[in-house]
Amino acid sequence: MKYLSTKNISTPASLKDAVLSGMPGDGGLFLPASIPTLSPQQLEALSTLSFQEIAQIMASKFLSEDIPPGELRDMVTNSMNLDVKLIQLSERLSILETFHGPTMAFKDFGARFMARLMSYLIKGDDRELTILVATSGDTGSAVASGFLGIPGIRVIILYPSGKVSPSQEKQLTTQGQNIQALEVDGNFDDCQRLVKCAFADSELRSRLRLSSANSINIARLIPQSFYYAFTAGKMRQKSDEFVISVPSGNFGNLTAGLMAKRMGVPIQHFIASTNSNDVFPEFLKSGDFKPRPSDQTISNAMDVGDPSNLSRIRYLFEDDIASIRSEISSWSFDDMKTREMISQIFKRYDYVIDPHTAVGILGLDKYQDIHQSTLPGVVISTAHPAKFPESVEPVIGEVIPVPPQLAQYLEREKQATHMSTEYEDFRQYLMDTLI
Ligand SMILES: *Cc1c(COP(=O)(O)O)cnc(C)c1O
Repeated sequence: MKYLSTKNISTPASLKDAVLSGMPGDGGLFLPASIPTLSPQQLEALSTLSFQEIAQIMASKFLSEDIPPGELRDMVTNSMNLDVKLIQLSERLSILETFHGPTMAFKDFGARFMARLMSYLIKGDDRELTILVATSGDTGSAVASGFLGIPGIRVIILYPSGKVSPSQEKQLTTQGQNIQALEVDGNFDDCQRLVKCAFADSELRSRLRLSSANSINIARLIPQSFYYAFTAGKMRQKSDEFVISVPSGNFGNLTAGLMAKRMGVPIQHFIASTNSNDVFPEFLKSGDFKPRPSDQTISNAMDVGDPSNLSRIRYLFEDDIASIRSEISSWSFDDMKTREMISQIFKRYDYVIDPHTAVGILGLDKYQDIHQSTLPGVVISTAHPAKFPESVEPVIGEVIPVPPQLAQYLEREKQATHMSTEYEDFRQYLMDTLI
């Protein structure tokens, strides 16, 4: 299958070019040239299949032209071996837990799948692939864990010294093997600038094969569409229709949901729930997109002021605001409302949620309220509450036990190389560590 740029200027790319380059040269983002569809029999079968079985079917829809069946099956088996659980809290509210992977956030799906797909795509090439990732926390840990031990690829993670949480830092710096952590004496923007300078350095790139693993890569969206199909299968046992609320920052998760719907997965409506970084709800209201610097909130993985996947959403709806509105509603909620919802869900159901999930539930509540809707709703729970004890524990008045996945990192020794914010130093490091 070919991959098109949302700007429609570059010529269509192969799977290999789209995934290894990450981004088309014209500044747009890649989308499949045509979104494949599930057959009526496959849609019928969703309610009886496991998540892994659904993942196999969906993956082959996207990738069977490019990857032989045995290889594709192994890739999906070895990356999508993650639990997905749908928890019904009430008639109108179910929670899709997508946080049972190694870093306890939904980003594990994308990172694990992308790692194995990239490894397959570079097979037989003579040069090692170096992946550069600038991170403020969550993306880096999912990528570090997803690429651990993947042959032919080394990952270099740049994170701002003192600006990620202690538990995140452990997840970034204790993996070892093919994962190297650089502790940059600056902020996230400095990390991102160093990565950008390396990509723009043609002499470096003639020596080093570089790629990125950020959330705009189409390889991360494809596996995220799988759990939407799984949800639709589970919900069909209860109702013909349902709505789904997605806690959103860069809108990669939501875009994957839209792709699943285009494949035929029956989802009545999407709710894009945001924290006080409200450029998307404002865009739906006014029709004008006005990016702006992000504000810090307790749902910090959604602190995004210029959501990168907006160009994909506009492309999918031919930039027609009325049709976007017909499929997506969006509201924003501040930290006070977020804390209130964490408390309310704990009191009512004895169930602990993280701040991102709380924003998602607020969005669903608002939708059901405004539309007087009795349709059941699903909220995607994007992270385990134990990742955010400093926000959640004071609200519920209890200590959240640390799950074994997270505890194992805490015991390990941090291994990071200090790095200045000078590009020359970073460049020298890349050259010196070249194997
Ligand atoms: C990344 C992240 C989000 C936002 O996902 P997008 O695909 O960027 O919209 C929400 N919640 C958590 C916990 C995340 O890590």
